[in-house]
Amino acid sequence: MVPPTSPPARAAKARRGEGQWALGYREPLNPNERSKKDDNPLNVRARIENIYAHGGFASIDPADLRGRFRWYGLYTQRKPGIDGGRTAVLEPEELDDEYFMLRVRVDGGALSTEQLRVLGEISQTYGRDTADITDRQNIQYHWIQIEDVPTIWEKIEGVGLSTTEACGDSPRVVLGSPVAGISADEIIDGTPAIHEIVKRYIGDPAYSNLPRKFKSAISGVQDVAHEVNDISFVGVDHPEHGPGFDLWVGGGLSTNPMIAKRLGVWVPRDEVPDVWEGVISLFRDYGYRRLRHRARIKFLIADWGVDKFREVLETEFLKRKLLDGVAPPASGPIDHVGVHPQKDGKFYIGVAPIAGRVSGSILVEVAKAVERAGSRRVRLTAQQKLVVLDVAESEVDTLVDELAGLGLHARPSPWRRSTMACTGIEFCKLAIVETKARAARLVDELEKQLADVQHTLAESAISVHINGCPNSCARIQTADIGLKGQIVTNGEGQQVEGYQVHLGGGLGLDAGFGRKLRGHKVTSAELGDYVERVARNFVAQRTDGERFAQ
Ligand code: SF4
Repeated sequence: MVPPTSPPARAAKARRGEGQWALGYREPLNPNERSKKDDNPLNVRARIENIYAHGGFASIDPADLRGRFRWYGLYTQRKPGIDGGRTAVLEPEELDDEYFMLRVRVDGGALSTEQLRVLGEISQTYGRDTADITDRQNIQYHWIQIEDVPTIWEKIEGVGLSTTEACGDSPRVVLGSPVAGISADEIIDGTPAIHEIVKRYIGDPAYSNLPRKFKSAISGVQDVAHEVNDISFVGVDHPEHGPGFDLWVGGGLSTNPMIAKRLGVWVPRDEVPDVWEGVISLFRDYGYRRLRHRARIKFLIADWGVDKFREVLETEFLKRKLLDGVAPPASGPIDHVGVHPQKDGKFYIGVAPIAGRVSGSILVEVAKAVERAGSRRVRLTAQQKLVVLDVAESEVDTLVDELAGLGLHARPSPWRRSTMACTGIEFCKLAIVETKARAARLVDELEKQLADVQHTLAESAISVHINGCPNSCARIQTADIGLKGQIVTNGEGQQVEGYQVHLGGGLGLDAGFGRKLRGHKVTSAELGDYVERVARNFVAQRTDGERFAQ
């Protein structure tokens, strides 16, 4: 007789499941889950303040260093001098420097000049004057030492900012429109909902152990890449209910990129925090915890479909039905660069650092210039740009000139305007290639090489997103030209830094992922010439008003 091995084997497989808590799988199925269960990551703050800041880098428990520190925006940065070819073969401790990247969450991208000045001064004092504006409206420092972290927190929190849950399997910074409340094009101002979510839920242990990161966006203008967030509330004018939000879920890039799906519901602004809590709770309880690369909410949506997701959200978490919604009309790309009228008669000025790179000194000088112009409000954008609000018409030209003197141009070249880059090999342990410095050289090359077609390209800027590895922190797949860092073979047969090219991705009207063309790779040295060829072909063949991604 054949022993009955098959049915029990199937049963064992089914029992293992995907690690969803709601189905009873509470035992951790991988080291990350084990670490979160052993100790809630939010508890690491006390150890940093009481032990590590006094004992120094050597005193840090590795489980905290490479795990729980992220819940406070801290990552070890890459040891200098390790080339990208060795990224995948070295052990984590061989890549770790004794310095940290520190990410400050700026929910809604909203800063006062006082906050901006303090952020700049922290960089000058503790971060070797480094500061990047990320494409999630954060400010990111480097060269931070553990001994200084409690003092930095004191200063950051003293002006109402925080690093809590800036990274980790947690609710990250909530994106919001940089022009919330002042744009004549805005359907509804999402700011009150952002404030309420941050006040109620950020730093709450009930939401600090998610299967993976959870990215949120709330905007009445389509300027926060809502298609690629885990949850987005997109402003929409409902024919019966009026201005409110259309709920999207399950967007994400990296490997297995997915455009978010509309749940088909309309949410009034004062219900956004409750619905947000319902979705994050559903993700916490039903999200897949067995495999890290299948843990984002997009995989649950892909398996369930939106109908089941909505039903479970309504019946198990909200305990009520949501109102049916209508789709918001898609908009073209919006980056807020330039000088624009506000609805109150003042102006806002959007300026473009190259790929988000600024410095502490620049932030301090921006704060001073903005105050001299009579404003107190600055915004960060999801395109790595900076926007000054509330400028009187009489002050606009002076401020534009002063900001240009800091390298922040309100009338940038198309390349300076539309190039983004992630952190890359300078500081990121996962990186394979250089990104920020390459972006700066690329902008310089293209401004010279394509000066003759600058006007045509200004009408329809080609976005170039440079990423240091496949993780897509700078949104490879939604750029006109997306560049994924990898080691490639050059004409002499040498292994050098280069990129896999993705062409024709976009958001809004052009929402979709760029095509990854097989064998379409370019070395870093040849990148300028490659982009020039692509741009010249586009200029030669484009019809009136045509965008690259069309
Ligand atoms: Fe690092 Fe890769 Fe993200 Fe760039 S895309 S910041 S290299 S993880």
